[in-house]
Amino acid sequence: MTLEPSSHPDQLSPETVAVTSGRPAREHDAAVNPPIVLSSTYVGTGVVVDGDRAYGRYSNPTWDPLEEALSALEGATLPGLLFASGLAAVSAALSLIPTGGVLVMPRHSYQGALVMAQEQAAKGLFSLRMVDIANNDEVIAALTGSGEKAADMLWLESPTNPMLEVADLHVLCRSARAVGAVVVTDNTFSTPLVQKPLELGSDVVLHSVTKYLAGHSDVILGALITSDPALRHTLLHYRSIHGAIAGPFESWLALRGLRTLALRVERAQASALELARRLETHDGVDRVLFPGLDADPGHQRAKAQMLGFGSVLCIEVAGGEEAANTLVGALRLWTPATSLGGVESLIERRRRHANEPASVPVNLLRLSVGIENVEDLWNDLARALDVVAAAG
Ligand SMILES: *Cc1c(COP(=O)(O)O)cnc(C)c1O
Repeated sequence: MTLEPSSHPDQLSPETVAVTSGRPAREHDAAVNPPIVLSSTYVGTGVVVDGDRAYGRYSNPTWDPLEEALSALEGATLPGLLFASGLAAVSAALSLIPTGGVLVMPRHSYQGALVMAQEQAAKGLFSLRMVDIANNDEVIAALTGSGEKAADMLWLESPTNPMLEVADLHVLCRSARAVGAVVVTDNTFSTPLVQKPLELGSDVVLHSVTKYLAGHSDVILGALITSDPALRHTLLHYRSIHGAIAGPFESWLALRGLRTLALRVERAQASALELARRLETHDGVDRVLFPGLDADPGHQRAKAQMLGFGSVLCIEVAGGEEAANTLVGALRLWTPATSLGGVESLIERRRRHANEPASVPVNLLRLSVGIENVEDLWNDLARALDVVAAAG
């Protein structure tokens, strides 16, 4: 499949590309949106030639426009690859590590990715070196191996979930390349509008399309994007053989959601920064984790490599776990739920999950800021913080 010439990804700004890419050709009476194709198999010619659709587990025309749009947004030269979920994309990406190889991973990676890597390492598929991804010296030592085997893969997530640590993407990608390690960057929190890992030296970009890209909390979907033909070939083979493929309806919904990505991200980022600043000075909050704040340890790095700071922020509630639970229970507008990146604001105490790393504070709440009016969001938080203060 070739990139749609009308997309002009080099000339148009990303906000426009999110709207224009993955459209049917402009012909008289053509639909402006791609159709949903429901077919498990395709008419063939007697022999299967490379590039034939052949069967619904190998390809579906409904995937193509979204794979093209994600590639254009990330600045890749090859179409992206959709998967049934972000975790299915994680599974495919981890399969690039050779048996007996070494994976370097942030200790605060997305929980599902962390659990999968730990379980595979426990089975002896590869060895795992967990690092503080914000500490360049520590990551580089893990990559080179300091006398042990050098790394085969560097996993990057920045800002990390949920601690929002910021990795020095440019330096770490260069260091990984120097030892021959493949770099996979989970760009879910930032979206390609805010951060472009391929430009910073990553080999593969991973998305939970479930989050900002689809944007409406109604779809589970994942994607991998790379400009490396050999890596893409391996990942495509993995998808075809392991079978965690995207549903046509989910793919269509995600493309529909992607059209408003720029508006949603712009609003949510602005609101997140405003809420972070107000929470930072509130007596009911011990600490705010958000790279957009001047005082945040990741602020300078984030400013250098991101266009904005995303719209996930975390707070440590004064008064501990109980106060954090009281706060969540007192909210009316914010929905207590896991996940992030939808139009509606969500809040969650992360340590309620048994698998959450013990280094995540028990009183930490993760806030996914949606696109509601920021004063409404603030009033709800301020009122719930008053409830906590009255209870304490
Ligand atoms: C949600 C998420 C995933 C997993 O994606 P699913 O679509 O839920 O399988 C991976 N990475 C990050 C950063 C996420 O937020």
